[in-house]
Amino acid sequence: MLNTLTPQPEDKILALMALYRDDPRDTKIDLGVGVYKDATGHTPIMRAIKAAEKQLWEAETTKSYTALSGDPAFGAAMKTMVLADSVDHARVGAIATPGGTGAIRQAFELMKLANRHGTVWTSNPTWPNHLSILKFMGLANKEYAYFDAATCTVDFDAMMASLKDVKAGDMVLLHGCCHNPTGANLTLDQYGLVADLILEKGAIALVDIAYQGFGDGLEEDAAATRLLATKLPEMLIAASCSKNFGIYRERTGCLMAMSETADNTPVTQGTLNFLNRQNYSFPPDHGARLVTMILGDATLKADWMAELEEVRLGMLGLRTQLADELRQQTNSDRFDFVAQHRGMFSRIGASPEEVLKIREEFGIYMVGDSRLNIAGLNAQTVPLLAHAVAKICR
Ligand code: PMP
Repeated sequence: MLNTLTPQPEDKILALMALYRDDPRDTKIDLGVGVYKDATGHTPIMRAIKAAEKQLWEAETTKSYTALSGDPAFGAAMKTMVLADSVDHARVGAIATPGGTGAIRQAFELMKLANRHGTVWTSNPTWPNHLSILKFMGLANKEYAYFDAATCTVDFDAMMASLKDVKAGDMVLLHGCCHNPTGANLTLDQYGLVADLILEKGAIALVDIAYQGFGDGLEEDAAATRLLATKLPEMLIAASCSKNFGIYRERTGCLMAMSETADNTPVTQGTLNFLNRQNYSFPPDHGARLVTMILGDATLKADWMAELEEVRLGMLGLRTQLADELRQQTNSDRFDFVAQHRGMFSRIGASPEEVLKIREEFGIYMVGDSRLNIAGLNAQTVPLLAHAVAKICR
């Protein structure tokens, strides 16, 4: 059987990581993979995570199974972090999942169960794994216009025009904040208009929120998700704790499913539990437990929020510095959008050929669509990137 298999398409970002690893130049700069790095290029364990791990090691007395949903306290903590009091939590079912990816996968599984012939609408562009998973699962996928390559901002009119074709029962996948890969985001008013359209069409929104706290702040970054929750009768939210808690390898995420009334919640919750059972049974607990401990302890939470804010402000500072350098080195305002973008990424609008040249001539690695990871930079490397971009992107 195994000899009938054919090679799968390689993940472009993971392939880029391998190229970077094999580059012998000690001046090389990795702006590829979506992992936060500090000024020394290290992905640290956050202080509150270390402290919670220490406490957990002392206090944990069993590694027996939790529940199919994961620990219900984790679901409750995530509802509070993402939704706050925008909706009645009794309307929202929640399961722990292996990372945000697990939550997205389970959201698509739910779509398959509820309306297997519906179409899932994704932004053009989106995180490539959305498309890959949809294709693998055999769900229909259409793209809605999103990014204006000329200005590197959202083309909202084009987005709304393409969403006019959404049908009842379709799913519209929105990035809750910090759009990946572009860094260009809707305003809150625009999210509201999208919600109105989704409501009018009778579709369901799936909000992918993987960078809460990396954009404008922990509460600010959840504002769009909360607005959608107040406007729509039903919606799904796939939240990742990988970035904002820095626990990438622990695989910690949460799928929330908001029903129209609390009467629906037992069946919704039961369905979510069922999906966990079919796919991997009990979800991972370690990272989820750390998150629950931090969100439930005033001291740990304050320290986590302070460190998250340092991370966010550090990236914002690099954005401003990069926009300023590019302004000087190109003698134009062409790249001013870098300071307006939010989150870990910016798509800077270089062609694939230019991206390749920047890699070959300067050892600066960004994804082929010209997405760069702002956190891969530091104060010393920003001018080097600006110089390379100014030289190559004419
Ligand atoms: N959604 C988006 C938009 C992402 O960028 C990522 C991580 N790259 C995820 C979801 C999932 O992250 P994870 O599975 O590592 O939690």
